[in-house]
Amino acid sequence: MKATINPSSARSNASLNLRNWLSHLADTDRLEVTRDGISLIDELAAVSKRLENRSAVLFPKPDGHAIPVVSNIFMDRGSIAESIGISEKDLLKRFQSAVRNRLPWVEVKDAPAQEVVHRKVDLLKQLPIPKHNEHDSGPYITAALLIARNPKTGVQNVSIHRCQVNGPDRIGVLLLPRHTLHYFKMAEQSGEGLEMALVIGVHPAYILASQAIAAVDEDEMEIAGALLGEPVEMVKCLTNNVRVPASAEIVIEGRILPNVREPEGPFGEFPQYYGPRADREVIHVEAITHRKDAIFHTIVGGGVEHLLLGEIPREATLLDHLQRSFASVRDVRLTRGGTCRYHLVVQIDKTSNGEPKNIIMGAFAGHYDVKQVVVVDMDVNIDDPNEVEWAIATRFQADRDLLVVSGAQGSKLDPSSDGGISAKMGLDATKPVEAELMKFKRIHVTGEEAVDLSQVLVSDPKAALANIVKG
Ligand code: MN
Repeated sequence: MKATINPSSARSNASLNLRNWLSHLADTDRLEVTRDGISLIDELAAVSKRLENRSAVLFPKPDGHAIPVVSNIFMDRGSIAESIGISEKDLLKRFQSAVRNRLPWVEVKDAPAQEVVHRKVDLLKQLPIPKHNEHDSGPYITAALLIARNPKTGVQNVSIHRCQVNGPDRIGVLLLPRHTLHYFKMAEQSGEGLEMALVIGVHPAYILASQAIAAVDEDEMEIAGALLGEPVEMVKCLTNNVRVPASAEIVIEGRILPNVREPEGPFGEFPQYYGPRADREVIHVEAITHRKDAIFHTIVGGGVEHLLLGEIPREATLLDHLQRSFASVRDVRLTRGGTCRYHLVVQIDKTSNGEPKNIIMGAFAGHYDVKQVVVVDMDVNIDDPNEVEWAIATRFQADRDLLVVSGAQGSKLDPSSDGGISAKMGLDATKPVEAELMKFKRIHVTGEEAVDLSQVLVSDPKAALANIVKG
């Protein structure tokens, strides 16, 4: 399956990298560059936060470091869709289809990612690693793909974890109970470390794919290939058997140490609170490789880029899950106010009363993070929080349309939960199927959309007013 590519017969996907995406953002006026020497501690994250939603930011010589840092490579849903060459309305559909129809990667021999090799490692000297939120314990690598191999089968997993710098060649890493931890436990039980790599600075689609809610042993780089319609080119690490994207800017090779835990945290997280300090797994770094003119990508914890990256793959998965049982479900959104994890809006083409409550229960089961579900009709714009609130204000009665479940599993990072035990709330904000047509008919002014203001308005309103009001 992972055949070595024949360069004469295969099209290279060397263009699918971070730097070409940055050039595209610059060409479309969405890349800012700072003066040299912005501080890696707090200042870089502060500038990034001020420009989130608006533009990517490139920081040359941060704290005098030779390698520049880039942040905010995603600004909104539209820029994510653009990075994979599709329109925003097709985003969830394309992601669903890429998860279902993965495209195996190919192996190459030469990689820009390995132009420069450091076998004597000093993380903070060799890489510009920022500190982001106020009470973060220190510098964190936040935008690295952690690629690890199933110790038995060699199948790879790709995910993003917060990585605290613990020493010149040591990284503390938070492994939630998903696939990387599963592979690590397998290795640790046989008394071994888990070979892995941290990959920094890749094409946006690779980062998006890493966040897919895929099954264990479904390689996320195959989802990345399917998203772009081209197999990803991978190269073998120099010190272990992990394969990494050849077009990456920077690769940190190492292993997660068996039977070692060190304090990690606090770290500013997506709910806009700090994830607590605790004893966590530790990576020993064995080599760093990078491009000659490498760029380091960072994501500010809890910032827009962080929220968006979690949002799209979760929405695609929840939509898939709901559509399996409910033909009326058309679209879903995890709202910004709900941290792009906790609050879900489901849009349906309603055909039967009662079904919204079944859909609410289905959504609770779709992901344990989901805490509130609002079901709305097709005439509500689910990208506009005011429209969703309007639907609740005019189509919902709490004694009839509210569903509450106590003591369910929720998010441990929700500070209002009881250590992750959480209540769930569902709101059916849909019209009754049998409603009389005019009762829920939205008001509308005929011709509003068609008005051409340039044909209607005069160019000098001040003069026109003076002409009318003479006294
Ligand atoms: Mn996985």
